[in-house]
Amino acid sequence: MPLSEFSLIEKYFLHKTPQRQDVVLGIGDDAAIVTSPCSKQLVTAMDTLVSGVHFPEDWPAAVIGYRALAVNLSDMAAMGALPAWLMLSLTLPNLDEQWLSEYSEAMFQLVTQHKMQLIGGDISKGPLSMTLALYGFVAENKALCRHGAQAGDVIYVTGELGVAALAFKAWRDPGLLSAADRDYVLQKWQKPIARIKEGQALVDVANSAIDISDGLAADLQHILQASQVAAVLDLQCLPIADLLTQTLPLDIAQQLALSYGDDYELCFTVAAEFTTEVERRLQNLGCRCTAIGRIVEGLGLFYSTEKSSKLPLAATGFKHF
Ligand code: ADP
Ligand code: MG
Repeated sequence: MPLSEFSLIEKYFLHKTPQRQDVVLGIGDDAAIVTSPCSKQLVTAMDTLVSGVHFPEDWPAAVIGYRALAVNLSDMAAMGALPAWLMLSLTLPNLDEQWLSEYSEAMFQLVTQHKMQLIGGDISKGPLSMTLALYGFVAENKALCRHGAQAGDVIYVTGELGVAALAFKAWRDPGLLSAADRDYVLQKWQKPIARIKEGQALVDVANSAIDISDGLAADLQHILQASQVAAVLDLQCLPIADLLTQTLPLDIAQQLALSYGDDYELCFTVAAEFTTEVERRLQNLGCRCTAIGRIVEGLGLFYSTEKSSKLPLAATGFKHF
């Protein structure tokens, strides 16, 4: 006999979640009750992932479960917040226990790693999709926002760009890369690592931040718009993944690194007096960070070459509609 809805919730969610001291009442009642530390501000973010839109329909449940949380965590990272609680609304075409077991196991791997607790959610029937709401904390008025960039700031990105773009190509065309390289890029694409520690390290020293989900150019534009400033990028400095430049012509690799999202690295801006401190902090975390340009007065996204110091750069990224 198939399990009832609440037995399923008990088996795959309630009994698997780690417990936190600050959760007064978790899964099981009409709503959850939590206590937030009075010295902190609550930071909340929500993301929906729809099968066939945000991930391919045939991805394994474990990949979907991991990735759905990882991309939400990336929003917390971009705010400099420490994640605490999670709510999950799942829409499933059928009650497939094998699928649920793999999905929840992968999700709880990340929940446990970040010492979070799943405190509630919903399950309904329909085309596969999931909505996750995350709650985290940041010290009062210390969150990293998009509107804080100032003329003179240095623009940085963490890690390297273009791995997800290459993974997507390799997924479509299995002969593009060697088996080992293909596995490496697919793993990074399917299981992105949210830069939570790095986001925390940037609190107090960065003026603005965003995570790169839609592409560097498009996401940086959000900072520029919100802060009412312009940016000039030095495209020679972009930390393009070596595998991408080895596999594709440089101009295409550069274009992908600028416009293809899904890498979930952080892009942030730092006043000149704090750049050394930022570089030291991120180096201590083993995180590469690269200065890619400057914030200047004005509006819009530009790049510099040897001949010209300010050429307009079209900001293209992943657009949903
Ligand atoms: P209600 O009808 O009152 O909304 P539900 O049967 O939907 O109650 O949910 C019962 C309990 O199980 C609630 O505490 C709810 O938060 C929790 N819950 C439901 N679905 C999920 C899920 N996917 N993950 C975690 N908790 C869930
Ligand atoms: Mg409900």
